Amino acid sequence: MAFKEKYSITPRYLTPNTKRRSGLKMSPGVKFIVAHDTGNPNSTANGNVRYYENSRNEMSASAHLFVDDREIIECVPALTGPPEKAWHVLYGVPTDNQLFGFNANDAAVGVEYCYGTNINADEAYARFVWVMAFICYKFELDPRKSVVGHFFLDPNRKTDPVTGLARSRRTYEQLLEHVVKEYEECTKTELPAISLPIKKGGTVKATVRLNVRKGEPNTIAPVVQSIDPGTTLDYASSVLGQSINGNPKWYKDPNGNYFWSGGVV
Ligand SMILES: [Zn+2]
Repeated sequence: MAFKEKYSITPRYLTPNTKRRSGLKMSPGVKFIVAHDTGNPNSTANGNVRYYENSRNEMSASAHLFVDDREIIECVPALTGPPEKAWHVLYGVPTDNQLFGFNANDAAVGVEYCYGTNINADEAYARFVWVMAFICYKFELDPRKSVVGHFFLDPNRKTDPVTGLARSRRTYEQLLEHVVKEYEECTKTELPAISLPIKKGGTVKATVRLNVRKGEPNTIAPVVQSIDPGTTLDYASSVLGQSINGNPKWYKDPNGNYFWSGGVV
C-alpha cells in the first residue's frame, strides 16, 4: 500500500540536546497524534520553528510539525527521521493514558496548525489533514481512533486546535472525519465499517461526569440526567452514534436514553 505524496515535508531540525529537543527517542514508538494550533494568529510554520530554535534552551515546550498554507516543517524528527520525543502535552494529565495507554510526550506526534488572516485557511487545513493521515499510514495507526485534540487531553488549560480551526471555519469533529477521508483517498483503500460485537445488556461505571441523553446517541440530544463519576449504570444494548474522538459507540439504557461509551469502563 502506498500513500499519495500530495505535499512535501521539510526537515528543519532544532539543535539537539536542548530544552526543546532532548534527542530522546520515542520509546514505545508512535502510537497516536495530538492535533494542536499555535495559539498565535498569523505566525507561520517557519516563524514558529525559528522562534523555537532561538529559544531552544529557554523552555521545554515543543512539537514535531508546524503546518501553514505553504509548508509542512518538521523541527523534531518524527516522519523524516527516527521519532524523538517532543514536549507538547503536560505529563500530569490522565486522559492520554486512559485513551491510548501512554503519555502523549512519549508516544504521540504533535502537529501544530498555523492560522490567521495572512494564512490561506483552506491550503493550511488541507496540509494539516494530509500530514495527519500520512502519520497514520506511516506508523500503521487507525485514522479513526488515533487523532486527539490537545483540548481533549487538557480541557482546563487548552482550547486547541478548536480555536484555530474555528478561525478557518472548521470544527474538531470535521477534522477527525477529514483525516479518515484523506487516509482512504491517499491509500486508495476503504476502511471497513466499525462493527460492534452483539452484546445484550450489562453494567458499566462512569469515569467522568457523564450526560445521559434523550432521543438520540449524540451530544445535541437533550440531557435528561448528569451522572457523577464512579456511578454504576445499566445498559440494554450498545449502538453506533455520534463519533466522539473517534469512538462512535454509545449505550442505550433500560429507559431508552443514551450515554457515550468513552465516559465509562
Ligand atoms: Zn496544544
